Amino acid sequence: MSSSATPIAQRTRAVLDRVRSACDQAHRDTDGVHVIAVSKTRSADEVRAAYEAGMRHFGENYLQDALPKVHALHDLAPQWHFIGRIQANKTRDIATHFDWVHTVDRLKVAKRLDAHRQGMGLPLNVLVQVNVDADADKAGVGTNAELDSLVQGIEALPNLALRGLMTILSSDTDPTTGFKALQAQFARLATHRGSDWNALSMGMSNDFETAIACGATHVRIGTAIFGPRETG
Ligand SMILES: *Cc1c(COP(=O)(O)O)cnc(C)c1O
Repeated sequence: MSSSATPIAQRTRAVLDRVRSACDQAHRDTDGVHVIAVSKTRSADEVRAAYEAGMRHFGENYLQDALPKVHALHDLAPQWHFIGRIQANKTRDIATHFDWVHTVDRLKVAKRLDAHRQGMGLPLNVLVQVNVDADADKAGVGTNAELDSLVQGIEALPNLALRGLMTILSSDTDPTTGFKALQAQFARLATHRGSDWNALSMGMSNDFETAIACGATHVRIGTAIFGPRETG
């Protein structure tokens, strides 16, 4: 292992320890919380170092940056999560190269992902992004009516597996309040859904312990694993 990989390995272990403590405190099983290493702006070598330290899920925001890494780590076959804004003209590559998409917020995009996933054998796992703090600068569905109609629309698409909800909180939103709001929507919708409805993606480096206390099943962690980002 190269020496530059060591800090990533150490940081990864520290994050996993913190996830375990947060699960213990919340009386939750560690198996129910998946760490997504958010690798935007990182090199393929850095991603590989995190994989060697035990990470199996990676999150990317920008398709162009992600594709070389997806190819470079092809031998390891990690799970790739798309967590960025979706441009309609990128849906083919997203549907073919990713295992999960966290940021679906309109039916038009869902339909395109579904069409491009056709024939790949496994459905594409998708989450609906909810703008729980109604931040005008952010993507995500805002109202219950919008959320319910998008959920219904996605359920009709055969090549998508609707797994749950995702949110990105604004920095001025109280994390507990924001995460509880998403968890409440998740629970409300769960009464009409099957066992596939089991993913709640919330929490980042600064607040993942709070997210775990509020029921997160997928925490998206960049800085705490890879160190500070220069850009992005
Ligand atoms: C960058 C990013 C993260 C990770 O943020 P950190 O603060 O570096 O942990 C998580 N989720 C999304 C959607 C992001 O864009």
